[in-house]
Amino acid sequence: MDNSVLHSKLLDWYQRSYRHLPWRETRDPYFIWLSEIILQQTRVDQGLPYYQRFTEKYPSIKDLAQADQREVLKLWEGLGYYSRARNMHAAAQMVMEDWGGEFPQTHEGILSLKGVGDYTAAAIASFAFDLKHAVLDGNVMRVLSRLHADATPINTGQGKKRFQALADDFLNTAEPALHNQAVMELGATVCKPRNPDCLNCPLQEACKARVQGNVADFPVKQRKQYDKHRQLNYWYFQKDGKTYVEQREAGIWRGLFQFPLHESDETLKEKDFFNLMLPLNLQKANLRYQRFTLSKHKLSHQTLFITIWQIQLEDHLNWLPKEHWQELPINGLKDLAFPRPIRKFLDENQLTLPLE
Ligand code: SF4
Repeated sequence: MDNSVLHSKLLDWYQRSYRHLPWRETRDPYFIWLSEIILQQTRVDQGLPYYQRFTEKYPSIKDLAQADQREVLKLWEGLGYYSRARNMHAAAQMVMEDWGGEFPQTHEGILSLKGVGDYTAAAIASFAFDLKHAVLDGNVMRVLSRLHADATPINTGQGKKRFQALADDFLNTAEPALHNQAVMELGATVCKPRNPDCLNCPLQEACKARVQGNVADFPVKQRKQYDKHRQLNYWYFQKDGKTYVEQREAGIWRGLFQFPLHESDETLKEKDFFNLMLPLNLQKANLRYQRFTLSKHKLSHQTLFITIWQIQLEDHLNWLPKEHWQELPINGLKDLAFPRPIRKFLDENQLTLPLE
C-alpha cells in the first residue's frame, strides 16, 4: 500500500484517538524537552506528575538552569536513572551559557545538548519546530518491525540502523510532528507489546505480520549477554536520632545520598557482618542490629540485591572512612534524594527508635 494512503489513515486515527497530554498542547521546546527526558524509561502515568512538578517549579529553562542540583535531584526522586536529571540540569545551563537562553532550533544544535540522543533530538526537532526527522523509540520499532515483518533484532546496532531507515522512509514530510506523534501513540496504545489491537489499527491492511498471522514473533530481540548480580550492603548506623550519609560521586546513582556501603561477592552472612564491624570497634557481644533484605532491584544490565543493616551505636563513630561523610538527624533524611529502593525502605519503615 502506498505510503500516502497509510499516512492519511494514520493521521485520521491519531486525531480521533490521541491522549490529550500537556506536552502535546504546546510547541515550546523547553516543555517538550522536559517531557521527553522524563518519559525516557518511564510510563506516561508515572511521568505526568513529575512533568507537572517540574514545569510548576521551573517554568522556564532559566529557572531550571539556576536551580540547585540537589533540589533538582530531590524533585526527580523515584523516577530512577538519575543521570537524566543531572544531564537535564547541565543542558539547561548549556542553553543559558552557549545559546544565549534560546533553545537551539536545529537538529544538530538540539543533539549537542547534554543527555540528548538521536531519538530525543528528532522528537524535539519535529514536535517543536516541524523539522523533518523521524523518531525511533521502542514503540516505533515495534510498529515497524510488525508492519514489515522484519526480524532484525531491535536491540542491536544493525537493528537501530535498519529501523531508522524504515522510519525515515515512512516519515510524512508534510506533517512530521503529527506523524511522529501518531506512530509513537499507535505503538503505545494499539500495537502494544502483548495483545495488539489489530482490528482497530489504521495500518492493519498493510501490516505483513498481521497478514502472516505471526504478530507475536515481532519485534525480535537478541538475548542480553549478561546480567550482572551485585550484593549491596548498607550500614544504617543510628545514635541519638542521628545517622551517617554521603553523596555518591560516581555510578548510576551519582549525586544521590547513601549510607556507608559495603559491596560483597555473595549474600553477607552474619559472621562476615561481625568481622566487618570489628575494625569499627563494634564487637559482636554488644552489637545491636537488625537486617532488612529488600526486594531485588533490576536495572538494564544488572540486578541489585540490597540489604540494609540497621545498627545501634553505643557511641558516635569517631572514625570517618571518607572526608565527606555527614552526620545527620534521621528525621532529615526525608529531605534528601536517595536511590529508589532505599527511599521506599525509608518511607515504609519507622526506624528511628533504638533496637530492643
Ligand atoms: Fe501492530 Fe496489529 Fe497494527 Fe500490525 S496491524 S501494526 S501488529 S496493531
